[in-house]
Order: sequence, then C-alpha cells, then structure tokens
Amino acid sequence: MASQVSTADVLIVGGGLIGCASAWHLADHGLAIELVERGHINAGASGQNAGSLHFQIERRFLEQGEQAAREGAVIVLLSKLAIGDWATLEDRLGRPLDIAMHGGLMVAETEAELDLLAFKVGRENELGLSTVLLDAAELRAHSRCLSPALAGAAWLAEEGHANPRILTDAYAQAAKQRGAVLHTGTRVTRLTMEQDGTYRVQLVEAGKERTVLARKVLLAAGHWSTRLANMLGLNLPLYPAPLTMSVTDRADPMLPFLVQHVGQRLSMKQTDDGNLLIGGGWPSRLERGEDGLPDLDRPALVDSANLRANLEVAARVMPALRQRSLLRTWTGTTCVSADQLPIVGEISAAPGLFVAAGGSLFTLGPVLARLLAQTIATGTMAEEIALFSPARFAKLDAFAVLP
Ligand SMILES: Cc1cc2nc3c(=O)[nH]c(=O)nc-3n(C[C@H](O)[C@H](O)[C@H](O)COP(=O)(O)OP(=O)(O)OC[C@H]3O[C@@H](n4cnc5c(N)ncnc54)[C@H](O)[C@@H]3O)c2cc1C
Repeated sequence: MASQVSTADVLIVGGGLIGCASAWHLADHGLAIELVERGHINAGASGQNAGSLHFQIERRFLEQGEQAAREGAVIVLLSKLAIGDWATLEDRLGRPLDIAMHGGLMVAETEAELDLLAFKVGRENELGLSTVLLDAAELRAHSRCLSPALAGAAWLAEEGHANPRILTDAYAQAAKQRGAVLHTGTRVTRLTMEQDGTYRVQLVEAGKERTVLARKVLLAAGHWSTRLANMLGLNLPLYPAPLTMSVTDRADPMLPFLVQHVGQRLSMKQTDDGNLLIGGGWPSRLERGEDGLPDLDRPALVDSANLRANLEVAARVMPALRQRSLLRTWTGTTCVSADQLPIVGEISAAPGLFVAAGGSLFTLGPVLARLLAQTIATGTMAEEIALFSPARFAKLDAFAVLP
C-alpha cells in the first residue's frame, strides 16, 4: 500500500532548541511548518546541557591569529544581539524560563592568564561589549565565595544561565500556537530530492511510513544532521562531542553568577533551588557499536578521570564546593564542526536545504534560530550569520550528484 503523502512549506528535522525555535519564528513568517522529532521534544543536547549564557570571547579566538580575531569579532556582534534576545524571551514566549542574567566571571589563576584576560577585555570593549577586568583584590571584594588565590577575572554583567529543561518546550508550545505542526516519535528514514527540486522526506511514525514533500528542509538534528545530509550524498563536517555535567546537593545561595575559566574547561552556576551545576566541556566516552564505531544512539559513558579533573578545577576556583555532595553526573552529546564554528544556512549544492548545528547553540540558539528563519523565509542570508554559512565547506560536495 502506498504511504500517505502530505506537504509543508518547511519540514524541520529535530525537536531540540534550534528546531523548535526555528519553527516558532518560521510560523510567524506565515509558512506552513512541520517539525519531526524521532524521540520527544528536548531529547537531545538541548535538554542535557549546562544552560550557561556565555558571551565573553573564548580563548581560541584570542590566540590563533588574525582570522580567529575576525571570527571572534563577528561572534561578539552576534553575542550582543543574543543578549537582547535572551533579555526579552520570557515576555515574548509568555512564560517563565528561569533566565538569570546576573553576570558572569571568566577567572584567571595565573598572571599569564590575567594578561590574556586584559587583552580580551580591551578587544571586547572596542567591539562594544562591556567586560570589566578585575584584579585579585577587586575579585575578592566582588565574589567572596571564590578562591582568594585567583589572579583576577573578567566580568560581564549580562552573562548568566537559563533552564535547559523548560526552554525548548516553551518554544514548541509557542510554535504550535502559531500553527506549526510538531510530530514526536517520528524518524526521518530517507531524504531525497525530486527532479523539480522538492524534497521527499520519508518518515516512520508509530511503525507506519509516511512521506512529506517540502520545498525547504531544515536539518536541526545536532550531530545526526551529518547522517541526514549523507542521505542526499552531501557531506557536513560535524562531529559528535560527548560531554560531562554534574550537580551537587542544595546549598545556601552563594554563587549568584556564572563562572568560567580562561585557561581550563569550567562552567559553574547555582540554580534557584540551590544546586551547583558543574561542567565546562570535559569529554565523556561514546560506547562502541558492534561495528566498532561510536554508537550515537546510546548515552555516552562518564569518564571518571575527566569527571575528577572537572570537579578538581571547580573546587580550586570555589573551595566551598569541597563541602558539598555530588548528587548526579550525566552525559550529553553535542557536536562541533571542522572549524569549530556553527554551520548555519543553506547548503549550496542543495538549494532549499538548510542546516543549523555545531557550537554553543544554547547561548546562541535563540538569536541564530531567529536569523535563520528570516533567511529561510526571505531567501536572503541574514548578514549577521554569513560567517557560519555552509558555503565554507562547499568543496566537500564537489562530487555530489543531485537531480
Ligand atoms: C553536556 C552539554 C553541555 C552544554 N552546555 C552548553 C552551555 O552551557 N551553553 C551553550 O550555549 N551550549 C551548551 N551545549 C551545547 C548545546 O546544548 C547545543 O549546541 C544545543 O542544545 C543544540 O541544539 P539542537 O537543537 O541543535 O540539537 P539537539 O538538542 O541535539 O536536537 C536534535 C534533535 O534531533 C533529533 N533527531 C536526530 N535524528 C533525527 C531523525 N532522523 N529524525 C527525527 N529527529 C531526529 C534528536 O532526537 C534530537 O532531539 C552543551 C551541550 C552538552 C551536551
């Protein structure tokens, strides 16, 4: 029996933050949107992450020459837009999202790290981001909970955190209210292009096959986006990055802001309930399938050495952590691209096929989804995200054959 066939203006694959936020914005542009998610909404990295809103320039953009500096500058401009998006999100989505923008510190333990922070603050201030350099004495006066041995920090008043367990669902609900249709438990099993450029997306839902025909498709499936692109014979250089997160028992309020480290992998914050969340990008380990390759469909395993190292750097920065109990450690798998910048926009070898994946897409997710939806709806790449265009990897598709 022939499978059921329906149509959509845009078919979105992936019910994470990017997919749901894009559905909301695209529906606002008056388009007929269908989103398919193989598990449940927020099942991927969007529901497992640290929830940090970090807008200060990362170290790699400070130390790797002129090109990295230019990329860092674009990201600062985008971060400034992201700050505005986060500040108004609760109002726009019409519900509380546990967004706390009470500031963030990037700490230094050595004089060399403090010099790097001074250089960073200079560059950020030139670009209009109001970071402030604190020396050791100023940092002690500012943050009594942190180690007195720290050399200093860079402070940005707009940084903070939000609750990753509720944000994506808020977008999903809002998208539905605007008319988008969301299907969970629905997996894309095949993606092809018709002669006229329409995409034929085959789905399996509750054991049954059906097909959606769409002029435009958005791959918002994290590291699985690579596999989906492969279905069309296209290559996306996105790699899975399994990471580690931990949470302690509840403590009295002691850490009202986000803490990061300029030289070590560290992110730390305290939730409204008092739990301290510790992460920062320490790898976990993907299990291997029978073919010996990483199994992307099973949760990664905690690597105990990395967990210890993560907790050790956290306790060095905030000694009071040594008095806390660890409640839970979990893993989540996000993805990074070949050049560590997000890949966002239309894939040149496949007109109408868009992707958004890679990088810190919790912090930048709301603004990227908004600008990507504008790009998809208008057909013109939003200037602010041009740096992330998949066009930079177009050579990988030199041998692709599409209708
Ligand atoms: C432990 C951890 C900590 C992090 N901390 C931060 C942080 O503090 N700040 C920050 O900015 N970023 C952070 N990140 C990164 C951030 O979480 C991700 O960049 C972001 O959530 C990506 O969202 P997404 O919607 O692109 O992907 P995802 O949330 O992974 O969603 C992709 C969805 O696609 C679905 N899917 C896949 N294949 C198919 C298919 N064939 N058919 C249908 N559906 C499919 C999946 O089930 C999944 O739900 C962290 C990530 C991790 C793992």
